[in-house]
Amino acid sequence: MTSPMTPSTTPSAGSHACPAPHGERDLLTSCVHCGLCLEVCPTYQLSGDENNSPRGRLRLWREEAEGRLAPDPWTATYTQDCVGCLACESACPANVPYGEILEQTRHAHVASGRTRTPLKLRLAAALATRPWLFNLAMLPARLLRRWGILPHKFLFAGQPALSQSTASYAEQLMRQHRPTGPRVALLTGCLMESVFREINFATVRVLIENNVQVVVPRTQGCCGAMQEHLGVDGVDVLRNQNRSAFGALDVEAVVCNSSGCGLALGKAIRDEVPVRDVLDFLGGLKLVQRKRADAGARVYVDLPCHLVHGQKLAGIPKSVLDATGYSWELAPQARDCCGSGGVYNLQQPENAREILSRKSAFLNEAAGTPVILATSNHVCMMQWNSAGATGQVKRPFLVRHVVQLLDPLG
Ligand code: SF4
Ligand code: SF4
Repeated sequence: MTSPMTPSTTPSAGSHACPAPHGERDLLTSCVHCGLCLEVCPTYQLSGDENNSPRGRLRLWREEAEGRLAPDPWTATYTQDCVGCLACESACPANVPYGEILEQTRHAHVASGRTRTPLKLRLAAALATRPWLFNLAMLPARLLRRWGILPHKFLFAGQPALSQSTASYAEQLMRQHRPTGPRVALLTGCLMESVFREINFATVRVLIENNVQVVVPRTQGCCGAMQEHLGVDGVDVLRNQNRSAFGALDVEAVVCNSSGCGLALGKAIRDEVPVRDVLDFLGGLKLVQRKRADAGARVYVDLPCHLVHGQKLAGIPKSVLDATGYSWELAPQARDCCGSGGVYNLQQPENAREILSRKSAFLNEAAGTPVILATSNHVCMMQWNSAGATGQVKRPFLVRHVVQLLDPLG
């Protein structure tokens, strides 16, 4: 890993002036130091360094908050090394709200200048708050994907619409098919809509084919997950925008086809309207069953961290996976992190690559023709794609969103 996982000294106590990196000391004191989170932490697994574990980070943050440790470069380094996968929350018997503490700490470190966010990521976060501009800026990416020209390891081939929005497409299909079942709103997302729009279109088709009414409010904004990951400003503005866009709708739920976006949106609007992962929502319906001609294909299902550890779902419903018509199984280590972590694979690329390397190795020996790696978060899809693009996985395999496997046009 690039960062100093094993410093020559333990972070030393300095001035006792309280740096108070955040005002939530009660949250920090909830850790009982049992260590049950260590073995599930990808950065601890890689480094063996207590300071790079959930317990170690919580201790550093608490010592700084209580003034026993001066603001220390190691603390910021270990904070940046955290993927934010939240596996530690699932393992914790004391219900330590690690994700909430991490979000506050990241923001405090950026605000105080202890962490510097690269310019390109700050620009991306700013762009994400202006959907029309983001869509325009990403037009070349949509074009390249349509042409099968994939200059970056995170870009996988697809057929995104160039100009028609998901909102317009949903309105068109609603007029054509007039479903009469439950009514939901769809979060389209910023990166999903601007680069991977065909997944939004597939989501609309699958919902409407299964008699679900879909509305796509045009006033919605980015979920704010990118800003949360980076610790930059703008999260509150986006949350307010989405409260206005979704809060007053007459819908059963807002559905999300990206688990990270769903987790972030839930923080904003869960008091107004339920936020559901679209696959979890589909699991409650009697789905149209796909028939497959490619009987030799094998689907390996990976579970995004923000689905199982963030949204606390058991997984992707079996009935949904069965409805794809494919022979499928859970990928080995399906509940472990793939290293994508929102923008982690851009901020800490070597760490992300090492985490993925362990998890993706099975694909080299996996049975099936073709081999399909399916998940439910576009950022995880990008990370998995990089395993093939960089030669970590040497055999060909396809990366798909599970909703694409249910798609009547898929
Ligand atoms: S969020 Fe993930 S990487 Fe960070 S401390 Fe928890 S388990 Fe480790
Ligand atoms: S499992 Fe929870 S209580 Fe135990 S050390 Fe980890 S964060 Fe603290």
